[in-house]
Amino acid sequence: MSDPESRYNLLVKPKSPKWKITNDLHLHTSISDGNITPNDLIIKISKTDINCISITDHDITEAIDECKEISIEKNITVIPGVEISTSFQKNDIHILGYFIDYKNIELQSSLGTLRNSRKKSILKTISILQDNGFEISEKEVTDISKGTIGRPHIAQILKSKGYFNSTTEAFEKILTNKKIVNIKRKKIDTLHSINLINQAGGIAVLAHPRSIKDLEKVIPIFVENGLGGIEVFSEKHKNETLNYLKNISEKYNLVATGGSDYHGRNEPNEIMPGMNGAPPETPHLLLSKTLEFHGSNIGSVPKGLK
Ligand SMILES: [Zn+2]
Repeated sequence: MSDPESRYNLLVKPKSPKWKITNDLHLHTSISDGNITPNDLIIKISKTDINCISITDHDITEAIDECKEISIEKNITVIPGVEISTSFQKNDIHILGYFIDYKNIELQSSLGTLRNSRKKSILKTISILQDNGFEISEKEVTDISKGTIGRPHIAQILKSKGYFNSTTEAFEKILTNKKIVNIKRKKIDTLHSINLINQAGGIAVLAHPRSIKDLEKVIPIFVENGLGGIEVFSEKHKNETLNYLKNISEKYNLVATGGSDYHGRNEPNEIMPGMNGAPPETPHLLLSKTLEFHGSNIGSVPKGLK
């Protein structure tokens, strides 16, 4: 892979900031497309200096309660979160939501719609792969996924069957190869997702913005519609990118967040929890900003941050 700053680049070592990593606001579990159960993830986190996390599974919030419960005895604060798949002006954009009321009906109904369309596109992908001679079945994919089925599950199977050396290679050579797999999955409009998070009392944060086209053109529109933060301390950013994103966060008064975006892929140079993250005060800054937006209508505040 040519992009040295991508979190998926297996050849580039993750770069850690100079502060002690005490929070990780971007984590996935097997409830979405991670390869690690909520329980194992919390155990892994408890062996680091991290004391505050957010589970940000794609379009699903089911891991939150379990993670919260296991985290109590480990003294880890869990901020309820989610990562929503959206699109804006042909850009695929991921919006993170924090401090949300994750039982919110409107939010859950939209997440349900997104999961259905994800499922349809995965089933279609499997049939395209079968047509192209790959031995893979729907059952194999559902069997290894504990919640939502996703492309990483397909990649995992293709790797285990020896078609590719790594899941990243499976992504590069086939799953993101539009000449073979070209499926348009229904995503919700970015502005709608920002609105959904806000009406669930949460704060919307732009995930891994590095690869968004015309970033400086879209940011003001997002901010006007209620965006509260932007990921700065994420991926394998060079100093130049870090400074660029940091300046954007300051210019638009957005909280600069970050995290590992860990999926438990078990691949070389994967960014592990504790390797990347925002400065220690960030969860409090994020909470202050959310309170600024919503006051007592904030979705949910974990005890550890009160
Ligand atoms: Zn993510």
